[in-house]
Amino acid sequence: MTTQSETGVEQRRRLVTEIPGPRSKALHARRTAAVTSAVGSTLPAYLERAGGAVLVDVDGNQLIDLGSGIAVVNVGHAHPEVAAAVAEQAAALTHSCFMVNPYEGYVAVCERLTQVAPVRRTDGDGGVKAALFNSGAEAVENAVKVARHATGRDAVVVFDHAYHGRTNLTMAMTAKAMPYKRGFGPFASEVHRAPMSYPLRDPEGMTGEQAARRALADVETQVGADQVACVVVEPIQGEGGFIVPAPGFLPELARWCRENGALLVADEVQTGFARTGDLFACQDEGVLPDVVALAKGIAGGLPLAGIVGRAEVLDAVHGGGLGGTFGGNPVVCAAALAAMEVIERDDLAAAARRLGERITAVLRPLATDLPGIAEVRGRGAMVAIELVRPGTLDPDPTSAAAISAACHAAGVVTLVCGTGGNVLRLLPPLTMEDHLLDDALDVLSTAITSTLTTDR
Ligand SMILES: *Cc1c(COP(=O)(O)O)cnc(C)c1O
Repeated sequence: MTTQSETGVEQRRRLVTEIPGPRSKALHARRTAAVTSAVGSTLPAYLERAGGAVLVDVDGNQLIDLGSGIAVVNVGHAHPEVAAAVAEQAAALTHSCFMVNPYEGYVAVCERLTQVAPVRRTDGDGGVKAALFNSGAEAVENAVKVARHATGRDAVVVFDHAYHGRTNLTMAMTAKAMPYKRGFGPFASEVHRAPMSYPLRDPEGMTGEQAARRALADVETQVGADQVACVVVEPIQGEGGFIVPAPGFLPELARWCRENGALLVADEVQTGFARTGDLFACQDEGVLPDVVALAKGIAGGLPLAGIVGRAEVLDAVHGGGLGGTFGGNPVVCAAALAAMEVIERDDLAAAARRLGERITAVLRPLATDLPGIAEVRGRGAMVAIELVRPGTLDPDPTSAAAISAACHAAGVVTLVCGTGGNVLRLLPPLTMEDHLLDDALDVLSTAITSTLTTDR
C-alpha cells in the first residue's frame, strides 16, 4: 500500500544502506573540512530530494520525515504548487528589494496574513497590517521593536523554557544556555523571565489562571506593570519541550496586558499555519494577541517571516523604521501565497487534528505501560513525549537520544527538544498519508519500548 506523491517520490520507507550510507559519509568528510563544526546536523544523511513526507538521501535511502524541517514543510516537501510558483516567479522577478521597488506579492502576502491572523482589534484602530522579514528571530525582534515604539516602554517579559531565536535580542529572550547562549553574551537588557505554566511540573491542580498570576506577580514586583512594553509567549512552547500551558493561562496574560497597557506578542513561529489543528494556536482559546510573529510554516519551505498587528501599533513606528534587504522577497512571497492556498483549500488544520489523534492513539498506551514516559502531550500534529527517570520527574535525555538514534537508523527522522533534552517531538508534514504515519509509529514504538525496557 504505497502511493506516489505528486512530487514523484514514492511515499514509502526504504533502506538500501546503513544510515548514513557511504555517499553521505563522503559528503560528511567534505563538510567537516569546509563547514564550521559550530553548525550541527541531527542526522547526517545528506539529502538529494524529498517529496510529500519522504526524504531521499544520496545513497537512495527513503526516510520518513517526522520533523518537517522543524515545522516548516507543513504542506509537504516540494509541494508541486509551491514549486511551480517559485519557478514562475524566479523567472519573472527574483529580487528588487521591497524598500527600493515594490511588487504585488509582498502586498498580497500581507493582505492574506491580515485576514487570517488572530489579532485584537480596538475601536478606531485603522485595521490590521503586516510586515515581512526573513527568519523567525527577525520577526520576534521586530515585534519587540514595534511594541517598544508603540508603548514608549522598554521591558520585555518572556518565560521559562522559551525559545525565540539566536540573534542578540532573541538570545536574551531564549531560556536555554546550551547550545544557544553560552559564551555569546553580553545579551540585550530589559528582558525579564517569568515562570511558565507547565502542568506536568506545576503544583497539582494549579490552573492556567493561577500560573499566569504567579508569573505576573513576579513581573509586577520585579519590573512594574507600567514598564512592560510586551509579554512575548509561544502559545505552545516549541524548542522548550512542546509545553502546553494550562487552559486559562494565555487568556489571563491577554487580560493583564490589556489592563496594563502592555502588548501581548504571540510567537507563533512554530505553532502557526495549521500545525496545531487551528490555523494559529492562539485560536484554541480564542486569545487575540496584539502582535503575532510568524515564520517556519509560512512559505512551504522557503525563508519568510512576518509580523501582523493592529495598524495603530505597527504604524506607530516612523516611516522607514522597519525593513531589510531580502524581507518578503518576490520568490518567497509567491511560495507563501501558494502554501497558504494549499493549507486553506485542503483544510490542513483538520489534517493536523487527524494526524494528532492517530499519533496519540499509539503513544498514550505506551505512556501508561512505561514509567519512563512522564507525559504524551501536544495539540494537533505537534506531539511530544517527555522522558523521565522512572518514579521521578528528573529529565532523561539519554533515553530520548537513544530512541531518536534508533529511529534514525531505521529510516525515521525524529527530533529531540526540551530544556532538559528529554523530549521527543513529532512534527510530521500535515499531508502525510496514514500508511506512512503508521509505519513511522511502528518504528517509534519499537524504539521506545526497547530503549525503556532494557539497560536501565
Ligand atoms: C524556530 C523558532 C524561532 C526562530 O526562528 P528562526 O527562523 O530559526 O530564526 C522563534 N520562535 C519560535 C517559537 C521558534 O520555534
